[in-house]
Amino acid sequence: MYRYLNKKFILDINSGVCHDFSNITINCQIYKVDLSDIFESDYLHKEIKKHLRYKEKGIYCIREHFSDQ
Ligand SMILES: [Zn+2]
Repeated sequence: MYRYLNKKFILDINSGVCHDFSNITINCQIYKVDLSDIFESDYLHKEIKKHLRYKEKGIYCIREHFSDQ
């Protein structure tokens, strides 16, 4: 579905949940999200987490080793 996105992480701006694009699972439910409601970035800590709408990491797709890079 969002295969033309080519960044590592995506942030669902409405829910504030960020996802690891390479690890997306059905439980992430991003298929409900409109492309205009997505912020994409390669940098979880430098960009995604600093986004005003960021709230939390996706529990299904973001693994622990990303937690404090
Ligand atoms: Zn996810």
